[in-house]
Amino acid sequence: MKQKLIDELKGRLRDIAHLNAVNSLVSWDQEVNMPEKGADMRSSSLAALSSIIHEKFLDLDAGGLLTGLKRELDSKKLKGKDATIVRETWRTFDRERKLPEAFVHEYAEVISKSQNAWTTARAKNDFKSFLPHLRKVVELKRKEAQLVGYEKSPYDALIDQHEPGMTAESLAIILADLKDILVPLLKRIKTSQIVLDRTLVRGAFPTEKQFALNRFVAETIGFDFQAGRLDVSTHPFSSGFHPRDVRITTRYKENDVLDSLMSTMHETGHGLYEQGLPFEHVGTPLSDSVSMGIHESQSRLWENMIGRSRGFWTYMYQHLKKAFPVPFKSLPLAKFYGALNAVQPSLIRVEADEVTYNLHIIIRFEIEKEIIEGTIDLKDLPEIWSAKYKEYLGITVPSDTFGVLQDVHWSIGYFGYFPSYSLGNLYAAQFFAKMHKDIPNLNTQIENGQFDVILTWLRMNIHERGKTYFAQDLIKKVTGEYPTSRYFGEYLNKKYSEIYRL
Ligand code: ZN
Repeated sequence: MKQKLIDELKGRLRDIAHLNAVNSLVSWDQEVNMPEKGADMRSSSLAALSSIIHEKFLDLDAGGLLTGLKRELDSKKLKGKDATIVRETWRTFDRERKLPEAFVHEYAEVISKSQNAWTTARAKNDFKSFLPHLRKVVELKRKEAQLVGYEKSPYDALIDQHEPGMTAESLAIILADLKDILVPLLKRIKTSQIVLDRTLVRGAFPTEKQFALNRFVAETIGFDFQAGRLDVSTHPFSSGFHPRDVRITTRYKENDVLDSLMSTMHETGHGLYEQGLPFEHVGTPLSDSVSMGIHESQSRLWENMIGRSRGFWTYMYQHLKKAFPVPFKSLPLAKFYGALNAVQPSLIRVEADEVTYNLHIIIRFEIEKEIIEGTIDLKDLPEIWSAKYKEYLGITVPSDTFGVLQDVHWSIGYFGYFPSYSLGNLYAAQFFAKMHKDIPNLNTQIENGQFDVILTWLRMNIHERGKTYFAQDLIKKVTGEYPTSRYFGEYLNKKYSEIYRL
């Protein structure tokens, strides 16, 4: 009887998975192929499809199916994979059913207007014109937190959507530790006599040649082009319709081959995770990623811990030189490695290096925690923003366009999302440290261009497990410790002490 109910639930979930796959395909097409004039109609198509998916999702409980299974779960009558499927399906269902139709509708309208207002405000450096929209978004996010429910902080309810099980309180501790590592390291780097020149790696790089190189690199680290594609979009992203059809994108700058290459490695990391989710469980939480933070750990591990390492370029530099003899043939590997890892505090998060990147995130975390908890007035945001940039990064913010208005996130209601970026870096370092313990000759393998041992490790420890564990528990299970800033701190200190001879 119980098995029949589980099978029924799996069937309903599979129907939703098909619709979700179509939804992702249409969204991907919007970013990659769609002609400009198709935009309005496309938004309406996507909205129509989303509401069908939402209805189908609420229908999971038709006939009391899901609530019945939840009771079985609560009375410990479900075990193993069945328990995971019901627990995780219930989590998403419970959140969705708590948000009334009227709220969802109002929210969608407010967000759409707010995003437009943000685009204009950013272009005109006019925070004041954006402020009333931001107030409205924040009001709705606070309302969402009330509707969904939380124990200590309303911010918890928003974080939970991206990083299940994580709280504002735990994050504050982890990120404060991280800040204590980053601020002194950055100070030491600033006093170093070593000056690294990023412009050494600039040149003229035709797009077709960059594409061929990106494809080669993605394939070399394990991306399966029989089960995925690499295309172009304004903002690089990855999208997994299911493990056998995973799309990643990059962008091209004719004067900067590394911009495209590193973003390809980043998205390939996301793509490898999607390709590694177990196909036999498609549609269920067993074939879904753990959290935003774990997803970002996969992209950051490949992009930074491997892609910006000396070992990786010991192998890959010959291929870069072959593709672009100018400027690389006459540039020694050591100089190239320095240029690739130059630290330079900057205003813009997405252009930041490994050391300063997380300071950008910490600033957003500290501010948005207060925004959602209602302890600051939104009109003071530009001032608060500038003060923190001065204090943590030592730079002066010249305008709101390059300051508080630079990221789209708050305008589209993405509160509680930023911390995942930092968590991704911390998780990646913690996994990477454990990987080194498990695979003693890891560095040699990387230097020889052998990456399958890394992918196998990630598949076994992370990808194949789907949503079986929350991020914290998965990390504890794999590394023996709960998430901590320690390993990322050790990684950065070791790498940059050597580069800057600190
Ligand atoms: Zn990412």
